[in-house]
Parts: sequence; C-alpha cells; structure tokens
Amino acid sequence: MVQQKDIYDITIIGGGPVGLFTAFYSGMREMKTKVIEFLPYLGGKVPYFYPEKIIRDIGGIPMISGEKLTEDLIKQAMTFDPAIILNEQVLHMEKLEDGTFLLTSNNGAQHYTKTIVLATGFGSLKSVKLNLANAIDFEEKSLHYSIKKLESYRDKNVLISGGGNSAVDWANELEPIANKVTLIYRKPMFTGIESNVSKMIHSTVDVLNPYELLELKGMGGQMTSAIVKQVDGNDLREIEVDNVIVNHGFEINLGPITEWGINIENGTIVVDHTMSTSIPGIFAIGDVANYPSKLALIAGGFNEGPIAVNGAKLHVSPKESLKHLFSTHYEPLTSGN
Ligand SMILES: Cc1cc2nc3c(=O)[nH]c(=O)nc-3n(C[C@H](O)[C@H](O)[C@H](O)COP(=O)(O)OP(=O)(O)OC[C@H]3O[C@@H](n4cnc5c(N)ncnc54)[C@H](O)[C@@H]3O)c2cc1C
Repeated sequence: MVQQKDIYDITIIGGGPVGLFTAFYSGMREMKTKVIEFLPYLGGKVPYFYPEKIIRDIGGIPMISGEKLTEDLIKQAMTFDPAIILNEQVLHMEKLEDGTFLLTSNNGAQHYTKTIVLATGFGSLKSVKLNLANAIDFEEKSLHYSIKKLESYRDKNVLISGGGNSAVDWANELEPIANKVTLIYRKPMFTGIESNVSKMIHSTVDVLNPYELLELKGMGGQMTSAIVKQVDGNDLREIEVDNVIVNHGFEINLGPITEWGINIENGTIVVDHTMSTSIPGIFAIGDVANYPSKLALIAGGFNEGPIAVNGAKLHVSPKESLKHLFSTHYEPLTSGN
C-alpha cells in the first residue's frame, strides 16, 4: 500500500514508454520514484494504438512488437520497485512553501513530491476524427483509428486515409494480409519515413494522392464502399471497402496542466537542454517535450528521461555533481536481474 503523504524525490506523470524507462533510471540514481498513469495499464500509446506493430527504430533491437517492448519496459521499470499508481489523471499542481509540490488527481488523491517529470505524451490519447457526417455510424465496427489485431483484416478490402508514418506503416503491414489495400492522402508528398513510403509504392498497395474521403456507404455499421475525391480536381471514385482506417494524427490536450504556469507552445511543453520546464523542479520528456529539432520517437525519449532525472537529482541535492552513469556500474542491479 502506497503511503500517499510520503514525499517522493520524483513523480513521473505518465506511464508510457518514456515514463517507464525514466522510472528505471531514476531508481538507478536512488531517487524515491512514483509513476502516476491515467489508464488502467502501463505502456502509453504503444499498447493503446499498436500492440502488434513491429518497432524497428530502437538501437540494438532490430525488431520488437509493441506488446513485447511494453512487457520489457515494465520489467525494467520495476527493477528498483517504484510506486505505480494507475487509473489516476493528475490535474492540479501546487508549489508549497518548503518547495515541494502537491499534486492532486481526478479522484482527489494527493501526492507530495520534490520534483515532477511530465511524460504525458499528448495528454489525451484521442485520434483526430474523420470529419464526415455519418462517420460515427461506422466507428469501432468498420471505421477504425488504430489497429489492435492485424488478423481481423485478413482477406478484407481496406482503405487507409493518411500520409504520415502510421498510415504508411499500416499499409505495408496489411498488404500481405488484406485482399486489397488502398491508401489515400490529401497532399502530394508523403510525410512517412522514406524507406517505408518506397516499400509501399513498390507494393500492391493502391496509392491515390492527393485524394480525400468524401463519403462512406454501408448499413448497420458495416461499410461497403467509400467515395474518394481528387483534391483540386474533379475525379471521383467509388472504392469497394470492408474497413476504413484513419490516421490523421492526434488531438493534443494536456487538460489543466496548461494552467500550471508552464511555458507551452503549440500544445506541448517548452524545455531547455536539461529538459527543465519554465518552473524549476518540473521537467518534461517524451512526446510532450518541445525543443528545437524534437523527434517524437521512443528512442529520443530514452535519452531525455536520464537527462531529466539528472536535473531532478541536482534540484533535490544541489551539492551533487552531474554524473554520467552507466548501468554497468551497478553489478548486479538487484537480485534476479
Ligand atoms: C501507430 C503508431 C506507431 C508508432 N510507431 C513508432 C515506432 O515505430 N517507433 C517510435 O519510436 N515511435 C513510434 N510511435 C510514436 C511513439 O509511440 C511515441 O513517441 C511514444 O509513445 C511517446 O512516449 P511517451 O511516454 O512520451 O508518451 P505516451 O506513449 O503518449 O504515454 C503518455 C502516457 O501519459 C498518460 N497521461 C497523460 N496525461 C496524464 C495525466 N494528467 N495524468 C496521468 N497520466 C497521464 C497517458 O494516459 C499515456 O499513457 C508510434 C505512434 C503511433 C501512434
């Protein structure tokens, strides 16, 4: 049972991949660590949007499924036994006279902490919805914003709308499984990673750009066809589809965190080179962090976490010096690891 009036050295808000790795590193620096996660489970966007997707861009891991990466990250995060609180959304922050922070969650729970690391991603895990009047009739039946089980698209006619990494990736993943994959994008140039775009263009995926969705047809939630229209042109096509997958990005909504007095730009939190926000003692990492050349990638977040922890350690113990520690200095980490 977690004693909520205990004062923690670090409270990490958000138990996504970046928050989880940060909890490990924080434990390694012997910081008393707590992770608070809104969802009933850990892993953030990875299990929520793409448990079966194969991730290939983490150094030293040629390929790993979202599910397995989450399992490994949780195991690693638990090495130093941090307090884990699920099903709580942190809403409010108050800086007390002695410099500690008091956090209050949606259920009224209070958490005392010397430093805060915001690893909240985009706050909400909501995708940008398709702006068509009858889209809601098909939602969760034949219109989806993420893919939980690739197998459920076997031998189906699938239309994907979007041109970023997720859309292009799903087109490539579904191509060998589905009967037919069509991808439409409203812009002339794709923003997905070049090698994936090339792979898609040289596959059997029918690529239509610049086109956009105009109408969905079907009954009882089951789509039968979709009408797509050329952007800045007159070509209209009716495409036979069983499923439409929409990848138009995410809503960024940090909720009441935007009222904490932290410097925010374009919905994300501005940080300096130490991952410090405009409020000393509060750091931001992962997708929510905003700095020049920021990449919203898991691997980048794995570097930001340790930088924030080191900054937090200096905040808690100003006499400490900045240390470049490796886990190999700690043999064995804990018994059984
Ligand atoms: C389909 C798809 C495929 C992707 N593929 C790749 C890939 O191959 N490689 C790659 O590097 N990246 C990929 N990404 C991006 C990657 O998932 C993100 O960069 C990563 O998840 C960011 O991790 P995070 O911990 O910063 O945030 P998130 O994963 O978004 O986790 C944030 C967590 O914070 C919680 N939270 C938010 N607000 C609060 C609050 N107030 N209180 C408590 N909890 C809160 C949320 O519930 C969430 O669980 C992909 C993304 C998508 C959608």
